[in-house]
Amino acid sequence: MAKNKNSIFLKSESQVIYAIVLILLIPTTIILNTVWSLKSFQKNIDVGLQRQALIVGKFFEKTVWQKSNDPIYLQETIDSFSAANLTLVEFDILNPQGEDFEVIASLKKETLGNTSRDLNYVISWHQDEAVATLVSGISESGSRERYWEVVMPMHSSSNQKEALLSLRMSLGVMDELAKDTLTKSYIILSITVLIVILLLMLNTRLFEHAILFKRLKEVDRMKDEFISIASHELRTPITTLKGFLSMTLEGDYGELNEQGKKGLKIIEASVNRLGYLVEDLLNVSRIEQKRLTIKLKSIDLGLVLGSLIDEFSLRAKEKGLVLKLNKDEKLPSIWADEDKLRQVIINLLGNGIKYSRRGEIELMAKKTDNKFITITVKDTGIGMTAQEREKLFEKFYRIQSDDTKGIVGTGLGLWITKQLIELMGGQIYVDSIKNVGSQFYFTVPIYNSAIHKEEIIK
Ligand code: ADP
Repeated sequence: MAKNKNSIFLKSESQVIYAIVLILLIPTTIILNTVWSLKSFQKNIDVGLQRQALIVGKFFEKTVWQKSNDPIYLQETIDSFSAANLTLVEFDILNPQGEDFEVIASLKKETLGNTSRDLNYVISWHQDEAVATLVSGISESGSRERYWEVVMPMHSSSNQKEALLSLRMSLGVMDELAKDTLTKSYIILSITVLIVILLLMLNTRLFEHAILFKRLKEVDRMKDEFISIASHELRTPITTLKGFLSMTLEGDYGELNEQGKKGLKIIEASVNRLGYLVEDLLNVSRIEQKRLTIKLKSIDLGLVLGSLIDEFSLRAKEKGLVLKLNKDEKLPSIWADEDKLRQVIINLLGNGIKYSRRGEIELMAKKTDNKFITITVKDTGIGMTAQEREKLFEKFYRIQSDDTKGIVGTGLGLWITKQLIELMGGQIYVDSIKNVGSQFYFTVPIYNSAIHKEEIIK
């Protein structure tokens, strides 16, 4: 079962597979590249040392052998320069004796007079050319060492083949250096591979976050869908409740006593609140799913403002507040969706009344420039601190303070208001001072017959 789950996960999340491939591929490439570079470095050193061994032989032939082939002179010379050259571990001059070769001068004096029929001697002598072989053996210090063994014929100045030179050059010093470089390279390689693996693991984390983000978006979409369906389903019973409540209150089912009326009024207020909440939720889901239709047309703002003042006067008066309208004498027509504009002003006026205990609510409209009219709702209410204002237009945000305790709301009104204003081409702003009051102001485009043609924005 778990296995099956894993394979489904790997199949669906190709990024994870991609990350695993990277984790394996990048360090492997770095390792291969280092090993290959070190190998070719070693090869180059070997070739260089082989050439050096051949040059030593040639040099000896030209500067010593062709000057004199007296064995005593040769032995003296070999003794002198071999002492200075630690890499030369064998250096023999051999004279052909029939099929064999006899040592006539040597770095190892105990071998003088020895004869041998080494295969390389025979090949070099008969083919009249140098033979170089890479061999490994045990050094005097007992460690394993590599050597270049060079056998070459030596000629007189008239190019007559006369004797053989056999030398053995140790690669120990260079091998030691190469080993040192190799160790350092492997240390750097290990650190690099470690860093790369750490980086890639971090990257995998990022992939995980991307996957989580994708899932979150999916859950968010499901939540939106749920809210939309739930609020639709709640609408019908709320309407039914409202209908029967108002009929009962009006006495359609018989006269109610005061106690009964009071109780039903409380129920009515709660049902109304539920209704506002459902409407807000429906608006949120319409806006988020871009299902809200905006019908833009030329509107007489003066008329809209006047009717809203009429609508809200009683509510303000009931709370002991004064509602005032203060607008330019001649307001130009604006370009907006009338229902949505009313909803915006209703939200702002409603909040003004809700969050003020005394004083006045002023609704203003002024032409600020040639393109926009600014509508302001100003109150003398509880106000807000700068910190409380920060998230004011976020969904479900409500200021939690002693002043707001007991005031009911959803925290959706201002979010919806801002979205509607922006959909109609305006902007909303807020100024507020704690315990002094707030003013919300927003812009709406002035109707311009040259650019505004009746349109429906979905
Ligand atoms: P609510 O349903 O809570 O009123 P809103 O989105 O309309 O939701 O407002 C968000 C919060 O902003 C409110 O809870 C309130 O604390 C604060 N607020 C809104 N309007 C005013 C105002 N005119 N004066 C003071 N506070 C306000």
